[in-house]
Amino acid sequence: MRQVAAVSELREWIGKQAVKTGAEVVAVSVKSSTTCHICGENVPYQKGLVWNCSSCGHPWDQDENAAANLMRAVQCDGYPS
Ligand SMILES: [Zn+2]
Repeated sequence: MRQVAAVSELREWIGKQAVKTGAEVVAVSVKSSTTCHICGENVPYQKGLVWNCSSCGHPWDQDENAAANLMRAVQCDGYPS
């Protein structure tokens, strides 16, 4: 049931909701969609929702991978070596 949405609209909505609740919005600059959350490799674009890392071979859901990368970036604990 996933659909493509405008990221700018989502970003705007999150900002508005944060203002209402006093929550802090943290912006991070990472390649969350194309970086393997397991090994940190930047993976070339692939079609479909499930990608396979070209380095470690691990399959991952694009959205779950991006969420894991964003969580790691906010927690500032880096990638495994
Ligand atoms: Zn990998």
